[in-house]
Amino acid sequence: MDRDTIIALATPAGSGAIAVLRLSGPEAIPLAAEKFRAASGKALEDCPGHTVHLGTIRKGDRILDEVLATVFRSPRSYTGEDVVEISCHGSVYIQQEILNLFLDSGCRMANPGEFTLRAFINGKMDLSQAEAVADLIASENKASHQIALQQMRGGYSSEIAKLREELLHFASMITLELDFSGEDVEFADREAFFGLLDRLSALLKGLIDSFALGNVLKKGIPVAIAGAPNVGKSTLLNALLREERAIVSEIAGTTRDAIEDEIVLEGIGFRFIDTAGIRETEDTVEHIGIRKTFEKMEAARVIIYMVDGSRAHPDLLASWSAEIQSIRERHPDKPVILLVNKTDRLDDKARKQLEEALPEALGISARTGEGLEQLQASLLGLVNRGVLENNDPVVSNSRHYQALVKAQEAIGNVREGMEAGIPSDLVSVDINEALHHLGEITGQISTDDLLGNIFSNFCIGK
Ligand code: GDP
Repeated sequence: MDRDTIIALATPAGSGAIAVLRLSGPEAIPLAAEKFRAASGKALEDCPGHTVHLGTIRKGDRILDEVLATVFRSPRSYTGEDVVEISCHGSVYIQQEILNLFLDSGCRMANPGEFTLRAFINGKMDLSQAEAVADLIASENKASHQIALQQMRGGYSSEIAKLREELLHFASMITLELDFSGEDVEFADREAFFGLLDRLSALLKGLIDSFALGNVLKKGIPVAIAGAPNVGKSTLLNALLREERAIVSEIAGTTRDAIEDEIVLEGIGFRFIDTAGIRETEDTVEHIGIRKTFEKMEAARVIIYMVDGSRAHPDLLASWSAEIQSIRERHPDKPVILLVNKTDRLDDKARKQLEEALPEALGISARTGEGLEQLQASLLGLVNRGVLENNDPVVSNSRHYQALVKAQEAIGNVREGMEAGIPSDLVSVDINEALHHLGEITGQISTDDLLGNIFSNFCIGK
């Protein structure tokens, strides 16, 4: 690892009330001390860690700004190195002047995520925690925030690290047996080993299963709204979003491009995908739209199928039932919510007829808002919020998910091999495989490529 002292703006680019510049590295304190004059007259170099000082930043004799300088001393800082944070007035000019002042005196501009990379390298956090920092910064709703925060605070990685440690112990016992292969000794307690494999499998299974939820909660649950043109899909979307994003029009088939938008219900994001509907058509542009509809349904977790209740007559009712049936057959694993829209145009008799023909349908009026609360409630009912309420570990990172699946496979092979009595040296190949994938999650095993990949997605200054 390089020993440069790095600097970056930690607050968003542009002007604000306050901006924070962060320096980290062996020269952070002496460099800051050179430019900073404390109001108290104290030298920054003599100040203990975790203290804040009022003073001025100077370029030669010229005062650039009145600032607060916060000193953190290694190893008790975010990066584990000496760190100085300078809070200045948030003018872009001041930020640039101070940044340049330090760049001219031997600091280097930090790369994206370099502060967090240093924190990882210095053992302040493991890799999954470092990744959670990026997720936390990116979180836009309560659910994704909670998942990221839990992971950043150790989440499942500490348990993985602990079990990996135990597995490592068995691996070395088995290797030891190999050294004494002629002598028929057993250093590794087989029963305890199977117990460990059970615990590992159970942990991995729970985490792997949680990804289905974690992944959608992080990005927002994709919900496709399908139905023939003019049933009111865009109007519903607008009612839900409470703003006119989609084009509402009287001409059938105008919603040609799928429009996506997210609403947050009780902390959980839902990404609504308005589609072109699935009416049979000759029109080529619309045909593309219909193909897209099916693609979008494929990608969605929930399908809303919407019909226009004001057009209900017996023939149509039968064809709606048939269409819902075919969507259900195509997507047996996806909840399909049937919405009958435009209830504001139905009299009591028509309502009754509809209820009898389509008992599972939810009647709404995208125009008046009738039934929208029930719709929101049924959407929320599809999410297993118990997991979030219990603060159970939830995997939302696909890199972790892949490593978990591979580790689980390897653990399965270890068990099978042991049960079949295959030679220890072959079993240890699978054990090493499992160790490798478990270590990838926490970063005990990492390559420069992997680290580069992860940290280049961070923002500068983090
Ligand atoms: P889409 O093609 O499915 O997206 O349908 P639109 O949202 O563009 O709506 C088609 C027409 O139906 C528009 O004139 C809407 O104003 C009207 N509409 C939509 N929802 C309702 C509703 O709940 N009640 C009534 N009366 N009209 C509606």
